[in-house]
Amino acid sequence: MNKIIARFAWYFAHIYILKAVFLFMLHADNLIKKYSTFTVVNGVSLNVEKGEIVSIVGPSGAGKSTLLHIVGGLDKPDSGRVRINGVDMLHLPAKKQAHFRNSNIGFVFQFHHLLPEFSAIENVCVPLWIKGTGKKEALSRATEILETVGLGGRLQHKPSELSGGEQQRVAIARALVNKPSVIMADEPTGNLDSANAQSVHELFLQLRDTFGHTFIMITHNEALANMTDRIFTMRDGKIVDEVKSLNSRF
Ligand code: ADP
Repeated sequence: MNKIIARFAWYFAHIYILKAVFLFMLHADNLIKKYSTFTVVNGVSLNVEKGEIVSIVGPSGAGKSTLLHIVGGLDKPDSGRVRINGVDMLHLPAKKQAHFRNSNIGFVFQFHHLLPEFSAIENVCVPLWIKGTGKKEALSRATEILETVGLGGRLQHKPSELSGGEQQRVAIARALVNKPSVIMADEPTGNLDSANAQSVHELFLQLRDTFGHTFIMITHNEALANMTDRIFTMRDGKIVDEVKSLNSRF
């Protein structure tokens, strides 16, 4: 009897590991992050499937941004494991990790951090230039992605000549231009009026449906959270609730 139980345990453990490597876009296991004696992220485990859009909600100070920075490779946990597309990102050497991040993860923040002196197309070219893509190809890809996000007519505009919603679309185009597997967004519509926020929400869904991007986003916007496949609630450094939305495709 014990042998049969052991065999089943072995079988399910292997299925889980294979899923972590091949099926989950993000697999985070027991992440812990402390600042001196304060535990900001307290044993968080999280799986996100390819093409899934998940939101992380919760009160300010719950640890949402810290968690997103850790799973995006911008910050290191004290312990735990993160796999993106099967790659154990935290254990890559620093240079390889930076390259992996630039190629596989796109970031969108509430404050878009566009370079004010650069035009829309130049801002979108920046991640390609960092990667060493040639000028002609970079301009062609940046044009294509700006057209995808509805800014084909604004290529040469500087950020100050664009509306808040348009600036955020440029930031989204910049996050997408390297064709990342996963996009991490921290309050992407926190700075927008409701009409612009709604149009950015629809853009995320359109991008997922067209290109199969995976999105992990922090939001205080209930309407945006309700459009995602799953909603995780964080409190005091832990995920305390997980709800599948009615429209979930997963
Ligand atoms: P949220 O995104 O949910 O608002 P954060 O992840 O930004 O929460 O922050 C969680 C807690 O961790 C906050 O109390 C914040 O003050 C603290 N914190 C974040 N970064 C640091 C840091 N670099 N040093 C010390 N405390 C930090």
